[in-house]
Amino acid sequence: MATGPISSLWQEVSPARGVDPVLAGEHHADVGIVGGGLTGLSTALHLARRGCKVSLVEGRSVGWGGSGRNNGQVIPTLAGCEPARLEATYGKAGERLVGLVQDSAEYLFRLAESEGIDCEAEQSGWFQPAHSLEHLRLSEARVKAWTERSASTWMLDRLACVALLGSEDWFGGMFNPTGGHINPLMLTRGLANASERAGAEIFENSPVQDISQTGAGWQIKTPTGSLHCDKVLLATNAYSGELSKTLVPEVARSIMPVLTWQMATEPLNEAKRASIVPGREAVSDTRGDLRYFRYDARNRLIAGGGLIVPVNAQSRIRKLVSDRLTGAFPQLGTPHFNHTWSGHIGVTTDHLPHFHQLGPGFYTAVGYNGRGVALSVSLGREFAALLDGVDEGELALPWTEPRPIRAHAIARRLARSALLYYRWRDTKPPKL
Ligand SMILES: Cc1cc2nc3c(=O)[nH]c(=O)nc-3n(C[C@H](O)[C@H](O)[C@H](O)COP(=O)(O)OP(=O)(O)OC[C@H]3O[C@@H](n4cnc5c(N)ncnc54)[C@H](O)[C@@H]3O)c2cc1C
Repeated sequence: MATGPISSLWQEVSPARGVDPVLAGEHHADVGIVGGGLTGLSTALHLARRGCKVSLVEGRSVGWGGSGRNNGQVIPTLAGCEPARLEATYGKAGERLVGLVQDSAEYLFRLAESEGIDCEAEQSGWFQPAHSLEHLRLSEARVKAWTERSASTWMLDRLACVALLGSEDWFGGMFNPTGGHINPLMLTRGLANASERAGAEIFENSPVQDISQTGAGWQIKTPTGSLHCDKVLLATNAYSGELSKTLVPEVARSIMPVLTWQMATEPLNEAKRASIVPGREAVSDTRGDLRYFRYDARNRLIAGGGLIVPVNAQSRIRKLVSDRLTGAFPQLGTPHFNHTWSGHIGVTTDHLPHFHQLGPGFYTAVGYNGRGVALSVSLGREFAALLDGVDEGELALPWTEPRPIRAHAIARRLARSALLYYRWRDTKPPKL
């Protein structure tokens, strides 16, 4: 389960990383970061590159949250949020955020390359096939919207779609050549190593229990030590509230951590592999109850999904995803899943990512709605600039107040049933 140790494919195939020390005694830094996922680590790397003294405190181990458990699709768009909405909601900062999103996949691949991070990166493109003819109109509207903002993206017609997927189940869709996929745990650990090489300090197994203002700065407290710093980034995202119920509860209660499952088939033989997504693109379709899949470096097909009722979860989710894959790709036969794992996606009620200023020099970002791999890496660059004193007016960080969700504990239990609504909505024409 999400709160236990990860027993994922990524854990098994990724080279181990040395364990960083526990925070003990008194430490000082210009910037303290809480949370060792892609957001925190990318911020640490970019701050260290700028010459700042930065310390990152992770409650478990680097990549323990969503960053080490995800599907690894590098996608330069947001989920269910079109660029015009970001601009209309957030004004100039929203326009800059649209620019950041559209460049985010390219940025991730180039950063991994320049830092020499081996993360089994494949920039093979990202494809969003339409699951109905009506949704094909949505894909066209998306392509139009993104190309008007000079993103590199285009439509694939039905024939090209069938050829790309090796399946007749979809109708065409939006293709973006800058996307692709990575091994997310290798990327996260690689960013941690790169941050340390650049001068950042990382503490692991150090759950933060309190962040309090002390004069002009902040004190980050764990059971065994304290970090004193001028500025703080809280980068706990969907895992906010997971290790400490009292740490900035208004942030934990402002998002819905939704449990989602991942699974990996056995490595496919070459004949099967060449007949299913032969170009090895990352694929996630237009449904709310998403169909998505990509290969890993050993030709395992990695897919996933969610459940409404959590009873017998592992066997039921395997059956559901197996049926869906076999339905779309009869040539696959019945897949055998060697690895099944889960993680929490940080969902916001308006489906927008949220950025909050929690005090002077104290910031957070939450709620990437399942599209955080590329986004978080670029946001790290943005937060590093902010924390190093760059004027907010130049940055892609639109601020809002955290708005705790009412009856959060109950809403959290009911969040899974949103899948029922998504399944119903998937059968209806989309709003254009
Ligand atoms: C199953 C799954 C599949 C996904 N697939 C994709 C995908 O294919 N493509 C995509 O773009 N996005 C995907 N996502 C979303 C993506 O993984 C996340 O948006 C992204 O990893 C968020 O990174 P983060 O650094 O903000 O948060 P996280 O990686 O969750 O990091 C937060 C960290 O904070 C730590 N923490 C929490 N509380 C404390 C505390 N009190 N003290 C110290 N540390 C603390 C946690 O241990 C954790 O390591 C997926 C998510 C999941 C769960």
